[in-house]
Amino acid sequence: MILSRVRCARVLQLTLAIIKPDAVAHPLILEALHQKILENNFIIVRRKDLIWRRSDSERFYVEHKGRFFYQRLVEFMSSGPMRAYILAREDAITHWRELMGPTKVYRARYTSPRTIRAQYGLTDTRNTTHGSDSSESAEREIAFFFPEFSVQHWRDVEEPCFRAGH
Ligand code: GDP
Ligand code: MG
Repeated sequence: MILSRVRCARVLQLTLAIIKPDAVAHPLILEALHQKILENNFIIVRRKDLIWRRSDSERFYVEHKGRFFYQRLVEFMSSGPMRAYILAREDAITHWRELMGPTKVYRARYTSPRTIRAQYGLTDTRNTTHGSDSSESAEREIAFFFPEFSVQHWRDVEEPCFRAGH
């Protein structure tokens, strides 16, 4: 017997979000950010608490190698525990990046004071959160943090299905 899945009316997008060491260090901020994820209708697909070695940090941020902030960044990202999430939602990538706000904390405070980085960021390096910036980077970053996770298996078995008209 062939079981075919009901055709879903929409397909959720996946993104990789990180709560960086500066925010994980403060339990109330960590909790506030977790609540923000839930309030914004993201599905938490997977979650992992971990500490990077410096080499993990260097590999993840290789695109920034040579920039003036690179050493600071890789040191900071391997300085303490962080939390990674795979999040699902319609337009998950854009939506999470909008919630985070601009990369630079002082710009965020000036232009978008209600964003996460404006509210909780400490400096341009210690800016609380990361979010994938494209579907290609989401795919790469999800595999980086969750090598055991199969997107296809999740779509086949776990992805909530909203049928047309429901
Ligand atoms: P993001 O995608 O908004 O996180 O920004 P980028 O991919 O451009 O940079 C990665 C991370 O490097 C940022 O989140 C910051 O932690 C850090 N970073 C980027 N630009 C700067 C900068 O101008 N100064 C400092 N100190 N850190 C930066
Ligand atoms: Mg980036």
